[in-house]
Amino acid sequence: MDVNLVLRSTRVITPEGTRPASIAVSGGTIAAVLPYDAEVPHGARLEDVGDDVVLPGLVDTHVHVNDPGRTEWEGFWTATRAAAAGGITTLLDMPLNSLPPTTTVENLRVKREVARSKAHIDVGFWGGALPDNVKDLRPLHDSGVFGFKCFLSPSGVEEFPELDQEQLATSLAEISGFDGLMIVHAEDPHHLAAAPQRTGGAYADFLASRPRDAENTAIENLVNQARRLNARVHVLHLSSSDALPLIAAAKAEGVKITVESCPHFLTLTAEEIPDGATEFKCCPPIREAANQDALWQGLADGTIDCIVSDHSPSTADLKTPDFASAWGGISSLQLGLPAIWTEARRRGHTLEDVVRWMSEGPARLAGLTRKGAIEAGRDADFAVLAPDATFTVDPAELQHRNRITAYAGKTLSGVVTSTWLRGERIVDRGTLAEPTGRLLERNN
Ligand SMILES: [Zn+2]
Repeated sequence: MDVNLVLRSTRVITPEGTRPASIAVSGGTIAAVLPYDAEVPHGARLEDVGDDVVLPGLVDTHVHVNDPGRTEWEGFWTATRAAAAGGITTLLDMPLNSLPPTTTVENLRVKREVARSKAHIDVGFWGGALPDNVKDLRPLHDSGVFGFKCFLSPSGVEEFPELDQEQLATSLAEISGFDGLMIVHAEDPHHLAAAPQRTGGAYADFLASRPRDAENTAIENLVNQARRLNARVHVLHLSSSDALPLIAAAKAEGVKITVESCPHFLTLTAEEIPDGATEFKCCPPIREAANQDALWQGLADGTIDCIVSDHSPSTADLKTPDFASAWGGISSLQLGLPAIWTEARRRGHTLEDVVRWMSEGPARLAGLTRKGAIEAGRDADFAVLAPDATFTVDPAELQHRNRITAYAGKTLSGVVTSTWLRGERIVDRGTLAEPTGRLLERNN
């Protein structure tokens, strides 16, 4: 095997722990993780990153790229640049907010065509489960989608209607027939309808309109359906920590359920959100500090499997100061790693924990066996981080299309100094290379 690159650091995070190492790369694949002072093979280039930490490239399984159709919101070019700058080397695109949504094989083909030449990192696709596309689910699965997203309450766009409990059962039965995965926006529509709905700029009113009970009930129903149908399900963007005990109990019982949370739930709190600041609006909402503490406990004990961005941007005009009508979605592709690292460290966690939550965990969720770890046989995808360097978030330095962010002005620890995709440096201190990302299919 011809080694063409050796990446050397005093701190390489491997599945066995962090150690000084030289990573030998051949043809875009990790050939071996060698001792730090291993001889560099003839013909290979040595890149020594000193004391910067080498992490496996991050995997973000929850990104709304919105391309084609709502490209004024985002697009594959800008989203994948932002991701690369943030140390992410693989993203999975959500099936909604683009036009068309990814709900038929033909629509998937359209999406792939658009993404192909613009992807700076590897890109895969989730399919969508709608009330009327049960017949499309198996063909989509056979075409390589990683699983299917559904809503249980209105999605915010009319072309992506939610499933009621009966429709959920029908789709879940179909999907479990080919051992597929259903990923679920879990808020119960009846609890949402019963909650007080007030317009205006008060964050407390918005928070009251998306109560924890809506999440808790939807998750409880989902657990029951997954148990009954022996289906694989995944809870998207968990905000309500009240649901953690029932999720933990379901896991202990053998129900095939996994859970993600997001940087905004883990690093921002309702108490700090100014009235009218709808860059903080997302559904489910950012909750109180005590809720956040419990979510970190859920990460620590393994109830929560992974942290992904739920990057869901829009144009500035849709972020009106009225929480009720403003577009819901937080843009954080480029900032997830430093945001989480800053808070994780404060709470006594290590970068190894962060890797488990932001690379290994999402890769496992998506069945991406070549991603998510630095070990022989995997893709040579790396994020190189200066963990003690700090920076203040300046929206002008973000790569995503509409530079709106809930993190503006925050001082964060952890600067991504370079990002590597299959052995090629795609980000070098903020400078991005031409796109070389590939389109991924499930199990490749
Ligand atoms: Zn989302």
